[in-house]
Amino acid sequence: MNLLTSLKYSPPANAPYSIDSMKCYVCAGACTKDVMFARYTYWKCSNCFTSQVLPQPDSESLETYYNLYHLSEGAGGVYDEVEDRMKADFPTKVKMAITYTKTKNPRLLDVGCGKGFFVKAALDSNIQAEGIDLSNSGIEYAVKTLRVPATSGRIQDHKMKGWKEAFDVVTLWATIEHLPDPLSVIHAIHGCLKPGGILLCDTGLGHIVWEKFLPGHNQWYDAPQHLFVFSENGLVRLLEQGGFSIIHSDTNFERSVMRRWVRWLRHFLLCFVGWAFLGPLLGKRGLHNMRQDAKWPLGRLMSIVAQKKTVTTKS
Ligand SMILES: [Zn+2]
Repeated sequence: MNLLTSLKYSPPANAPYSIDSMKCYVCAGACTKDVMFARYTYWKCSNCFTSQVLPQPDSESLETYYNLYHLSEGAGGVYDEVEDRMKADFPTKVKMAITYTKTKNPRLLDVGCGKGFFVKAALDSNIQAEGIDLSNSGIEYAVKTLRVPATSGRIQDHKMKGWKEAFDVVTLWATIEHLPDPLSVIHAIHGCLKPGGILLCDTGLGHIVWEKFLPGHNQWYDAPQHLFVFSENGLVRLLEQGGFSIIHSDTNFERSVMRRWVRWLRHFLLCFVGWAFLGPLLGKRGLHNMRQDAKWPLGRLMSIVAQKKTVTTKS
């Protein structure tokens, strides 16, 4: 089954999805129609500048999608293409976990662990790591092939697993943008962390200056897998609502300084070519069609380190 055809486009019958009711998930600000991708529309908040897909695909469709997502390319999955890039970042991310945790043998939970590669990298650095993911095929690979501790399911059910205040650090790599209800997951993570525990999170950054030159060509507009494209302001607000305080934020995460410069140069060249040649040549519609066919490598990663506050503002 093809990934996209596995999705049913079925908003709830009585959902009030009129233009007037498109409110921002993060701050309830008014949203306007922004980027269209495949048959989905991103709506952007005029207050915190977070973009979100509305209406969202139903939960059954998303579950089917992610069970296919982690399969090999030949079996209909797409994860192979991002796997190598993500694995290359993991040594830097393991170091981050060690730096910010400040505990000798920290216990770590990787939420959205997929096939378990980050759990394996953390275990290899003597961190007591385990993972959780909704994808049955991802967890099967983690447990049977990598032989790492990993559970299939929702972090929101952590109380049943005895995870209350059990972890020193929780990681949420390239996951928050996939979640239909990210605040419920942030609350659950808050419950799993020990007092003062650390959440490490990264996601594709929206509302960047380059988008002015190539509107909508930020690579993170990729529905239905990315239901949200957060601005820095939007993600910070969401984590604060979930009971965290931000202790470090990087809106241009790369594993080396050299890669930061390469990314900047690539953005500059792409935007120049788009603005000076492709835009005038193809027009607005041509540029839009190009986005559907070829995803441009335009977009930055935002990495955030947040600490659990002892008293939550919301539960
Ligand atoms: Zn907002």
